[in-house]
Order: sequence, then structure tokens, then C-alpha cells
Amino acid sequence: MTEIESEVLMDKSDDRNPAKIKYPVYQPSLTGNEKKYVDECLDSTWISSKGKFIGKFEDDFAKFIGVDYATSVCNGTVAVHLALVALGIGAGDEVIVPTFTYIASANPVLVVNAKPVFVDSLPDTWQMDPKDIEAKITDKTKAIVVVHLYGHPCDMDAIMAIAKKHNLYVIEDCAEAIGSKYKGQTVGSFGDIGCFSFFGNKTMTCGEGGMVVTSDAMLADRLRRYKNQGNAKYREYWNDILGFNYRMTNIQAAIGLAQLEQVEGFIEKKRQIANWYMEELKDYPLVFNKETKDVFHTYWMVSCLVEKADMRDSLREFLKLNGVETRPTFYPIHTMPVYVHEFSKHKVAEDIALRGMNLPSYPALTHEDVKNICNVIKQYFEK
Ligand SMILES: *Cc1c(COP(=O)(O)O)cnc(C)c1O
Repeated sequence: MTEIESEVLMDKSDDRNPAKIKYPVYQPSLTGNEKKYVDECLDSTWISSKGKFIGKFEDDFAKFIGVDYATSVCNGTVAVHLALVALGIGAGDEVIVPTFTYIASANPVLVVNAKPVFVDSLPDTWQMDPKDIEAKITDKTKAIVVVHLYGHPCDMDAIMAIAKKHNLYVIEDCAEAIGSKYKGQTVGSFGDIGCFSFFGNKTMTCGEGGMVVTSDAMLADRLRRYKNQGNAKYREYWNDILGFNYRMTNIQAAIGLAQLEQVEGFIEKKRQIANWYMEELKDYPLVFNKETKDVFHTYWMVSCLVEKADMRDSLREFLKLNGVETRPTFYPIHTMPVYVHEFSKHKVAEDIALRGMNLPSYPALTHEDVKNICNVIKQYFEK
């Protein structure tokens, strides 16, 4: 596989040239109370990791997900790290992770010196294959990192049954699935711990930021202590465990709270955008990652497969020349340099990774915009 560097650049790129790119793959909508709340932080001087917005953001977020506790952190990657640490996962443990995901679902497993064991995806939903999870369980397996990729929930009945049968912890990586539901239940509330990201291109953002949720009081306490330098509760400035500074600032929480107030509208709009794309392009050879039975898909990135890998790349190039930015689907993690030494084959993930792409998916897109983008795609297939 090629383009590894450019994928890294594209994924977090903010240096796109607005003169050339008419439709970026993502941009945040900051049209609510963001500015007002941030001004309150500045005017009151509460700009660091204490202040009224942090508690309010955490409480309202926990309510939105349907869990008892939420603790804010500085990004989604450390959210996953903190979850592993709080569950006591470390050297000698194996953790099951989908290979088809963003790198931040897997790297924290290595960071705690445990071993990520990759599983393949299902061809229809692109999510973790429960049969492959079961096949990869050993007596060292301690946890499953369940990733609801691109906003489509995983098969939680099957996965939770496997976890229960084998006594495994479940960490849900919901970075791309804020508000997604499986059988009416919001993702992040199924497992022991749920992790969220508020990076600039996620369904809701606070610039950089994340949230860790749980309904277990003891885990909530461990998460808070580890994120805050391992501060003891019984003595000030006494640090009795090896912790971190993973705190969020009041400014980030101010933006996050303003975004949370609007998140249902963002999700509704993103579902509408996905439906516009699917309707416009129904006669073209693209297979969309669409909502399946029993789930509520939030379409973080509207994603589709083209028939062949080389066609994907030429379609992306054609779109780029016409001002439409796209992204390739993630490279399977087992093919990345850090992980590739241990050869394994994951056919479905490798296939989706080569043939898939993400289309512009931000909430400000109008029907007209989506039609314009689809017209470029139609031109490509008709030329
Ligand atoms: C974005 C993302 C993360 C990490 O979030 P950051 O806030 O960028 O650190 C983790 N997992 C998945 C699946 C993501 O998409």
C-alpha cells in the first residue's frame, strides 16, 4: 500500500486550500452558543481545567448517552488509553481490536504493553465480525475494543454475548458514532467503558477533546484519578498511583457544551445528507455503507465502495480536480508498519480499505451542494 504519509496528512489536515477545494470532506458548524460560552471563560478568567462548563458538559453528555458517569479528557486517543489503564490491562494481556479502524483504537493497547489481536470486518456493515472475535479469543484475552466505525453500530447482541461468555471487558470506541443506536440503545452505554472524540471533524467537536463514560462508580473514580495525576482523595497533593494529566480545559468544555446542545440537529442533518447521496447515486456502481436492520446510523462520514481499487483512486482524483475533497477508507491496521511484522490476513477489511472512500459529510451541506458533488461523480462514470 502507498500514500501512508498523505493519509496521515489528510486525516488531520487543516491546511486545505479553500480557493481550490469547494467541498472539504469535513468542517465543523460553530453557529450555536460556542462564542458566547468561550467569551464567558475569557471574561471570567476560568480558562484552565476548572470551571463551570466542564461539570455541565460531563453531566449533560452522560445524560445524552444514557450512562451514570462521564469524565472529560483532552482527546479521544487518551480516552482509549485511560479506559485500558482503568480496567487494569497491561503486559501479558491480549485485547481484541478490529483491523479496519483508525489507528487510535489500537495504539493505546501497545502503549499499555498489551497485545492487540486483530479481527476482520463484516462485508455489509463494515463492523467487527463476531465470529472472528470468538475465533481469536485465547486464555490471555482480557478485553474487546468495539469500534462503531463511520457511525454504524456494531452487532452488540452478538458481541456482548461473547464478552459475557468469556468474561471479557468491553471498551466501546464511539469516536465516530456519537448518538448512534443499536436496538434503540445509544452506543457507549453497552460496554464497561465508552470513549468519545471531539476532534474538529467529528460529529461534535471542541477543537481537541474526548469523553470517557461508564455506569460503574468504581471505574468512574479510577478514570478520574488516573486522568488527574493519580491524586489521592484523602490527602491534598498526594499522588498514590501513576497517573497522567489528560484533563480538558473549560474553554474546550464551553465549545463542547454548545455543540452538544446542537448534536441532535447535526445527526438529523447528516442522515439527510446520506440519504441525498444514496438517492442521487442509486443508479451508479457505488455501494454505500448504509443503515442495516436494528440500528440507527449517524453517518459520521458518508462512505461507499467502488467496484475496483484503481477506479476508487481515479474517481478520487477526478473529484479533487473538480473541487471535491474525499478520503480513502482507513488502511487496515495489521498492514501498518508498527503492526505488519506479524503477518495476518483480513480479507474483508483489506477489500473495503482499497475500494472505499468518504464523501463530504459536514452538516452545513445543502441539498444543492450534494447534487453538485453527485453531478461530478456522475460525470466520472459517464465519461
Ligand atoms: C478520531 C478517532 C479516535 C481518536 O480521537 P482523537 O480525538 O483524534 O485523539 C479514536 N478512534 C476512532 C475510531 C477515531 O475515529
